[in-house]
Amino acid sequence: MEIIKELQYIVGSKLVTTEPSELYCYSSDASQILGMPEYVVRPENTEQVSRILKLTNKHGIAVTPRGAGTGLAGGAVALSGGVVLDLSGMNRILEVDIDNLQVAVEPGVVHAKLNEALKPHGFFFPPDPGSSDMCTLGGLIANRGSGMRSVKYGTIKNYVLDLEVVMANGTVINTGSRTLKSSAGYDLTALMVGSEGTLGVITKALMKIHPLPKSRIVLLASFEDAEMAGRAVVKVIAGGIVPSACEILDRMTIEVLNAYDLKTPLPDAETILLFEVDGTESGVQEEAEMVKSICRSFVSSIRIAADEKEIDEIWTARRLVGAAISRLDPQMTRVYVGEDIGVPIKEIPNMLKRLSSISEKSGLKIMTYGHIGDGNLHTGMCIDVFDEEQWKRLNQAADEIHRTALMLGGTVSAEHGIGSARGEYMRLERGLALGVIAAVKHALDPKGILNPGKLGI
Ligand SMILES: Cc1cc2nc3c(=O)[nH]c(=O)nc-3n(C[C@H](O)[C@H](O)[C@H](O)COP(=O)(O)OP(=O)(O)OC[C@H]3O[C@@H](n4cnc5c(N)ncnc54)[C@H](O)[C@@H]3O)c2cc1C
Repeated sequence: MEIIKELQYIVGSKLVTTEPSELYCYSSDASQILGMPEYVVRPENTEQVSRILKLTNKHGIAVTPRGAGTGLAGGAVALSGGVVLDLSGMNRILEVDIDNLQVAVEPGVVHAKLNEALKPHGFFFPPDPGSSDMCTLGGLIANRGSGMRSVKYGTIKNYVLDLEVVMANGTVINTGSRTLKSSAGYDLTALMVGSEGTLGVITKALMKIHPLPKSRIVLLASFEDAEMAGRAVVKVIAGGIVPSACEILDRMTIEVLNAYDLKTPLPDAETILLFEVDGTESGVQEEAEMVKSICRSFVSSIRIAADEKEIDEIWTARRLVGAAISRLDPQMTRVYVGEDIGVPIKEIPNMLKRLSSISEKSGLKIMTYGHIGDGNLHTGMCIDVFDEEQWKRLNQAADEIHRTALMLGGTVSAEHGIGSARGEYMRLERGLALGVIAAVKHALDPKGILNPGKLGI
């Protein structure tokens, strides 16, 4: 039977497409990387995923799993044609088990939907990506993503207890258990978290949840320069305070956000730090005072957000950064390269200083924002994408950003993943371990059908 017929037989004809206009919609993610699939298949259950993989494995056809396509590294882009497996239709929250502090979900559940479902129970799922309203939990797990709360609550890897995974040959396995700890052999859950669809397709996830904190306070601190802000972060964290969020916005970010017509404009400053502390009412008061007193010698001003309404407006503004950058210049396009470095906390001021000299050298404005409390800095660079010379300068600047982060003991991707955008840095970052990564891939997917061309292997 023809491949298309077999795929239609497995999922039904409505859930397979080869229409060029639809294939085109699946040919990119939120990066500029492109790759056209030959088929888009939208399975509805694990059994269908397993049968699809048995078929594609037999014929050596590439399969690229896809959630919402909000990835910024080309991870969900089909570089070798074949099948894009759209898992966004497997989007049920299967179980909210408050007694065990766990939830079971299908991979296509949109992140924000999970928190909406947990709120009435007084619980939440702490990893908090800026793309919460769009991205799927499957994509977040596959990319080992995180977001604003990881400084206190950790990243997605700290929450996954068990995954149901369909392996390249169609075998369905479970990687963990319902218990909070287990020392039964290799940690396959950890192996799958961050595997970017190259080792298996996640079809179910069992994850821990957390009680909602009773109280929170947000502080807005303004600084005369970014480096000073970086030093304040190091002091606050070394001072034993674990903020639930600690974000940096530089002048350019503040300007693009204010141009977006925010409900409450951000203060006019070179750099702002947003600290959030959460916990009990008395605890947060004490921690907020400590943050204030540590920051006093670095800031030009610091104030506490007036109420819950202002706090919500501040976090909404922070989430708008990605979209707001388009206000900078309608002729320019933001290109996601060099946008997700992480450095050890102590190196933050150094990294900020180096970013400013890379910006000067390249003649490109580099907007800097991100989860500075865990050392994760996002950079935003815009160019005229029809100008080759600007592309050259952009790629040189991104290369320097990556190499500087590595030189400071950091990583080229703290949360967005490697995909195909950063594959060339894997040898530099992981050294001989890249050979082990390639060996694991070969053992689990000998025909190399799962998301080929990713992770630099
Ligand atoms: C405005 C904006 C803000 C963002 N902010 C953050 C942030 O704060 N933190 C953060 O971590 N990321 C952030 N991102 C990046 C992106 O949203 C995350 O990487 C997200 O986790 C991707 O989820 P997705 O469902 O869109 O996955 P996709 O982009 O569809 O896929 C991502 C990767 O996961 C694999 N994959 C997807 N589903 C499965 C599955 N079921 N089984 C196996 N592999 C699978 C794909 O093959 C691909 O390699 C942001 C993106 C945007 C556009």
